[in-house]
Amino acid sequence: MEALRKKAHEIITGGQVKVIIGYGEGSPERARAIFAQTPAEVDQLIFDQRCLQNLAVYLMKPEVKALGKMAITASKNVLRSILQLASENQLTDADLVVIGITDDGGVIEFPNLQAVEEHIKAAGTPAKNEDRARIEEIDKKPLEERWQYWQEQLSACVKCYACRSACPMCYCTRCTVECNQPQWIPAPSHHLGNLEWHIMRAMHLTGRCIECGECGRACPLGLPINLLTQKLAAEIESQFDWQAGMSLKVENPLSTFKPDDKENFIK
Ligand code: SF4
Ligand code: SF4
Repeated sequence: MEALRKKAHEIITGGQVKVIIGYGEGSPERARAIFAQTPAEVDQLIFDQRCLQNLAVYLMKPEVKALGKMAITASKNVLRSILQLASENQLTDADLVVIGITDDGGVIEFPNLQAVEEHIKAAGTPAKNEDRARIEEIDKKPLEERWQYWQEQLSACVKCYACRSACPMCYCTRCTVECNQPQWIPAPSHHLGNLEWHIMRAMHLTGRCIECGECGRACPLGLPINLLTQKLAAEIESQFDWQAGMSLKVENPLSTFKPDDKENFIK
């Protein structure tokens, strides 16, 4: 924590950035995001096991961008989100300073996004997280049971869109769910419209989800909707040998055409 605050002080007092996005004290269970603009606010930065939120989401929020050049304290999930956003032309070196936090609490100031990519590549393929095990369990159920499971889960959704707000990759300024000419997805919370909303969200995030689980943690009803996007991430990995947030290259499998694609999904 001291190393983090020392580095943050250097950056803010040296005028490198106007704001540092990091974690501060929240509840006993979870830290909360803070936006440090002064040395006194920098002293409130923390990093411990409660710091789970994917802070990269704030890099896309207009009200945060308006504060000026940003720095961000970045766990591995945040670093992967930054790479994914940069690969989608949403971030450049001019926009931010990245302060990486290692698993043992060390601090790395990356000189540029290329260095973030090299760091993530050197760390190797991300380990399968426990959500992948839950997905495999659901996959083992017969088709009818799986359908029933998701029908029950998704019919409870109240369409508050907290999952969308929490995801760094959901940065469209106007989402399909808010379009009413034509109204692709019914606005009220009901069984059919809920299903459409979640299928649309999952498809939009296919090949882009870095599997941080934040959408599931953000849901006030505790619906495991992160398993939908993470299931598609697993499919993309097995079909295209691709994981999001590992590279600065624009190569998303669902938006890249390759003449030698095996195309075995076309029957
Ligand atoms: S798990 Fe995927 S879809 Fe959910 S918030 Fe993280 S990146 Fe977004
Ligand atoms: S956060 Fe939960 S209740 Fe809100 S829209 Fe997403 S799934 Fe539905």
